[in-house]
Amino acid sequence: MSPDPSIKEIINWLPSSDEPLVIAGPCSAESREQLLLTARQLAKLPQVKAFRAGIWKPRTRPDGFEGVGAEGLKWMQEVKSETGLLLTTEVANPRHIELALKHGIDILWIGARTVVNPFSVQELAEAVKGVSIPVLVKNPITPDIKLWMGALERFHKSGIMQLGAIHRGFHYFKQSPYRNAPMWEIPIELRRLLPSLPVITDISHICGRRDLLQSIAQKALDLETNGLMIESHFDPDQALTDAAQQIAPKELEKLLAQLIVRERTGSIDFQHKLEELRTEIDKLDGELIQLLARRMEVVSEIGAYKKENNITILQLKRWKHIIEDRLAIGTNMGLDKQFLLLLLELVHEASIQQQTKIFNQQD
Ligand code: PEP
Ligand code: MN
Repeated sequence: MSPDPSIKEIINWLPSSDEPLVIAGPCSAESREQLLLTARQLAKLPQVKAFRAGIWKPRTRPDGFEGVGAEGLKWMQEVKSETGLLLTTEVANPRHIELALKHGIDILWIGARTVVNPFSVQELAEAVKGVSIPVLVKNPITPDIKLWMGALERFHKSGIMQLGAIHRGFHYFKQSPYRNAPMWEIPIELRRLLPSLPVITDISHICGRRDLLQSIAQKALDLETNGLMIESHFDPDQALTDAAQQIAPKELEKLLAQLIVRERTGSIDFQHKLEELRTEIDKLDGELIQLLARRMEVVSEIGAYKKENNITILQLKRWKHIIEDRLAIGTNMGLDKQFLLLLLELVHEASIQQQTKIFNQQD
């Protein structure tokens, strides 16, 4: 998949500093007091540059708290005039955008449930045409990088040059300690496709619980995130939405203080050594690929031989033996069992596909 080529021109509009941008604030605006109390405490933390609060809340079921609506935007304005923090909120329809702009919201964000729907995204993109405002696009709930890219492209086509992505994790059917599985490979691929696009990690919606926040924040920084979005409430246990994942500003202060912000490039000596190691990896990868190609040649021969002798492709006993044998060898050499299993399954699948192709060939 290749992105719309013009999207590569996105200017990296975040303030250029070694420190990641921190966007903090409650999941939802609940009352004027809650918003101002929280914002005052957050404004004391130098890393916090922007204040977030959901004004309209997308809820799974209709009886939940659906946000305070437009009234909350006035409280947001008070936050800005009192603390100087930039403001950001989620917009899900053109009316939200109109109201947000009218009330001086500085950055718009598009929620994960909206990004799954290209009709909605298109409507929003049209509503910001001609407006100069940063737009942050959350990843869609499902792990689909094309939908994420597609939404970014729609805003870009509308003339939004200050674009950013928010990685908030993905719905995953298997059990995981996270509310939304991070699947880091997806934001990494997005950065590869759009190197000038800032990516911010919403650790709160990835974790879903406080005790995981520190390690995920560190991981995000170590994977070169440009910023963090963190839900913070002056009294998190009483929060009307996402109480389990919100933290008090004091806790956020501790979390930020414990983060290690590493250098991105390092000294010349470091770079030389790294280059040497990378050359070694390149060589090993080349050998791995050659080995795989040779293995596939033998697989083709086996396929032709089975076909000639009218023998089935899948030989369960043999497959079982391969797994046991290779797992034993690999784990003995210190390789992770789960990793080996996935790798063997991939190789086996490709081998079955290759043999099927041979079986289907007309002689
Ligand atoms: C939120 O940020 O409060 C929110 C609703 O997020 P998401 O769209 O990622 O679920
Ligand atoms: Mn939330």
